[in-house]
Amino acid sequence: MTPLDISFRERPRTNEAGAGAVAPAPAPVLRQRGQREVFCGLTSIVWLHRKIQDAFFLVVGSRTCAHLIQSAAGVMVFAEPRFATAIMEERDLAGMADANDELDRVVDELLARRPNIKMLFLVGSCPSEVIKLDLSRAAQRLSRRHGPGLSVLNYSGSGIETTFTQGEDACLASLLEQAPAAPASAAEQLVVVGVLPDIVEDQFRRLFTAMGIKDVAFFPPRRAGEIPAIGPGMRFLLTQPFLTETSQRLEDMGAKPLRAPFPFGSQGTTDWLRAAATAFGVSDATFEAVVQPAQARAERALAPHRRALEGKSIFFFPDSQLEPSLARFAYEELGMRPIEVGTPYLNRDLVGAEIDRLPTGVTVSEGQDVDLQLDRCRAARPDLTVCGLGLANPLEAEGLTTKWSIELVFSPIHGFDQAGDLANLFARPLARRAKLRL
Ligand code: SF4
Repeated sequence: MTPLDISFRERPRTNEAGAGAVAPAPAPVLRQRGQREVFCGLTSIVWLHRKIQDAFFLVVGSRTCAHLIQSAAGVMVFAEPRFATAIMEERDLAGMADANDELDRVVDELLARRPNIKMLFLVGSCPSEVIKLDLSRAAQRLSRRHGPGLSVLNYSGSGIETTFTQGEDACLASLLEQAPAAPASAAEQLVVVGVLPDIVEDQFRRLFTAMGIKDVAFFPPRRAGEIPAIGPGMRFLLTQPFLTETSQRLEDMGAKPLRAPFPFGSQGTTDWLRAAATAFGVSDATFEAVVQPAQARAERALAPHRRALEGKSIFFFPDSQLEPSLARFAYEELGMRPIEVGTPYLNRDLVGAEIDRLPTGVTVSEGQDVDLQLDRCRAARPDLTVCGLGLANPLEAEGLTTKWSIELVFSPIHGFDQAGDLANLFARPLARRAKLRL
């Protein structure tokens, strides 16, 4: 029997009719804890290593782990990558001292070859010989040995503990250990949290600066030495809905969260920017003057895709935790009809507001029992199914049109100037299928 639990997602207690009005009945959240088909947290190294340019990611793992990241980041074969795998062969507990020696030796060799590394992440994985190793002690030992010019941190990317975007969350949470504490008297600063391509970061910085919010930092930074100080004057805006642990740690360190929809599409980006504008006292007139031209560009880019996608049904398998935010975008900005919105974990604090903006009748599901979910998908016959690579081919063979969810993580999709590209990621598979039918 599959563990299955249906609970109810809360809706706001009032609606637009005003205080005291009766809220719509809560829609059920389907919670399933069966077999799941999701990449492990090691996958996020593919985008993390491009962001922090003087960091290096050393996976402590098996040959399987090495193959996974090598194939996920296959394009790197012509460049010198900033990641590698220290392969731990099978050994018993008596051999653990050797395993630590071996890890030290690999790190010595790496640093001799790459002296410009300023930050080294030891990334744990799930083989039993790695679980037996205490990577946090290894990180402390290596920091003492190679410091002060090198910081060694550790986090887990193990498939037992993490799905692929949780790798970023675990990495950023560990990076916060290096953040200096800002004094309580420090001026207010806006910190944008979550990995973004540099070009998108620059677009957001220009918009904040034009609004008059000048003190803006991005976390993670592009260089290990540029981690912002964190304290009560810090207001932070998340760019990714999967940063639960990072967000919690920031709050524990005194920073204040600005909750907003995530910056996907024209409306999502406007709402996200408005959260910062409101917190930093930007006037409505200034906000409109800064945002309106970019918003108009985004609307123009969305229009042809909306014409192609309006009324089309969409089904999300759980993969990246971006699903509720992307479903909000597909529904509100492209006119699509979400049928099921699956997410590996549902953090209401981060995505509850976007779930509440989905139409009535959508199934929101958390976790997975893949066979049951495939049955629901086949019964619904959606126009577009967003799912992991492992499910896409079989579903295509059954005549369904699919989009690989990992593409939505690897592609620049945040902000006004990427709204059209994001819509195109949904439109392209349908256009391809239509051509095949001709
Ligand atoms: Fe496989 Fe675990 Fe290594 Fe991920 S961490 S590649 S799930 S062995």
